[in-house]
Amino acid sequence: MQGTPTTPQFLQHLRAIVGDSALLTANEELRTYECDGLTNFRVVPTAVALPSDAGQVQKIVALCHQHRIPFVARGSGTGLSGGAMPAEGGIVISLARLTKILEVDIPNARVVVEPGVINSLVTQRVAPHKFFYAPDPSSQSVCTIGGNIAENSGGAHCLKYGFTTTHVLAMEVVLPDGAVVELGSTMWDAPGYDLRGVFVGSEGTLGIATKITLRIVRRPESVQTLLAAFSSTDDTGEAVSRIIAAGILPAAAEMMDRLSIQASEAAVHAGYPDCEGLLLIEVDGVCEEVDLLMEQVKEICTGCGAWELRLAHSEAERQVFWKGRKAAFAAMGRISPNYIVQDGVIPRTALPQTLREIRRLSAAAGLRVANVFHAGDGNLHPLVLYDRRIPGQEHQAEQLSGDILRLCIAAGGSITGEHGVGFEKKEFMSEMYAEPDLATMQRVRIAFDPLGICNPQKIFPRPRLCAERRGPYVPHPLETAGVAELF
Ligand SMILES: Cc1cc2nc3c(=O)[nH]c(=O)nc-3n(C[C@H](O)[C@H](O)[C@H](O)COP(=O)(O)OP(=O)(O)OC[C@H]3O[C@@H](n4cnc5c(N)ncnc54)[C@H](O)[C@@H]3O)c2cc1C
Repeated sequence: MQGTPTTPQFLQHLRAIVGDSALLTANEELRTYECDGLTNFRVVPTAVALPSDAGQVQKIVALCHQHRIPFVARGSGTGLSGGAMPAEGGIVISLARLTKILEVDIPNARVVVEPGVINSLVTQRVAPHKFFYAPDPSSQSVCTIGGNIAENSGGAHCLKYGFTTTHVLAMEVVLPDGAVVELGSTMWDAPGYDLRGVFVGSEGTLGIATKITLRIVRRPESVQTLLAAFSSTDDTGEAVSRIIAAGILPAAAEMMDRLSIQASEAAVHAGYPDCEGLLLIEVDGVCEEVDLLMEQVKEICTGCGAWELRLAHSEAERQVFWKGRKAAFAAMGRISPNYIVQDGVIPRTALPQTLREIRRLSAAAGLRVANVFHAGDGNLHPLVLYDRRIPGQEHQAEQLSGDILRLCIAAGGSITGEHGVGFEKKEFMSEMYAEPDLATMQRVRIAFDPLGICNPQKIFPRPRLCAERRGPYVPHPLETAGVAELF
């Protein structure tokens, strides 16, 4: 069902909840919220509310429900799939003022936070106790825990420690009708459906998380970080496969190709070797184990043709290694006026051939593609470089980017590893899933949000209810039966 546009009366009620200074309605203020990190799609919201606590969030959502106004939650707006883009006629509920770390429970290895807490601040807060919060997206210095939950965000260290979902124990959530529920539990294996698991990764479509209990992890005794330079991406990919096949589970295994090294070097001067493929491998654990594993990693890399191995000898040097990798996306602006950040997954063993195929597609399209990614997870981030000023090139870049996703599906992978489907990739959902799979997901969504006001038009293709198959529109059986409506 479509939401209805806001009215002066609705805005008056909204102002009564959050106060004058926390309600934005001027066009120049609203434009800040028209998109997230994916700037190709923009919708100016009719208002932005900046609640200061969970109670206000609940009242705003209940008001939206009463007036059937679409809303979208927003953390820091760093999402890369248009997830926080407002709906036409809808409002934005910004969680930027819910920034309290409410509880630090070291003996039980838990932290309770509000959703607007910045990811890296959790680790900062527990570091003196020798703990850390494991999910570490490259945007961790700016993105929020609420956004991380919605996207089930990953990062370099998720290869060993797991994605966000592994680290979220429980949540207080405001459902789209304004009801407040507790999802998950601090107990292991609580009875009932795992609604916590359903909510994590639901891209803001099932409600708004207002309080989150996170699991924190004890800092390993020892960490060693290695840079290995190769003469080809095939050799680099092969080294990753062999390391994992040898039974070694690195804390991180990140890969960069020549173009991404060039961009990163231009921005942060990490001193990376000038090579076709660079591997950044981190091993952690108890000292003796780490020494042993790192020797094996070095041997495998050398066996795959690595011609330079550089071990970080201090924490400062390790941070420099990571700085180059973490800056790579943002650094693309140094070598190209525009670029699309793609996010797909392939089985790890398909790395060399998929990278070769990407090179072929890139040459055929006449567009450069830089690759920087979580190689251990098979989570690719091809960056398609283009120049918007050249007529037709943006469209070509979008097509190439779509073809890369199709490669991932064909290799038995996925259209997203961590950035979400959002607005950007919803059409690809029907290329990845069969109709009954999509219909099942839709039924879950409808159970949480029968009015379709909570971040509508995301994940699932419009205008068809369950699966966008190109060609004439065929109503879904649920629609024909009057069980569900189009939204
Ligand atoms: C340079 C750069 C590097 C990045 N690197 C990574 C990476 O390594 N790994 C990775 O996974 N991502 C990465 N991202 C993507 C992005 O940072 C993550 O998706 C992040 O989790 C988004 O957080 P946010 O606070 O900015 O959320 P937003 O962009 O504001 O929102 C994202 C989604 O979360 C929903 N949402 C926000 N708060 C809540 C809440 N409290 N309850 C329910 N839904 C909510 C929104 O509605 C939206 O759908 C990167 C982005 C950039 C710009």
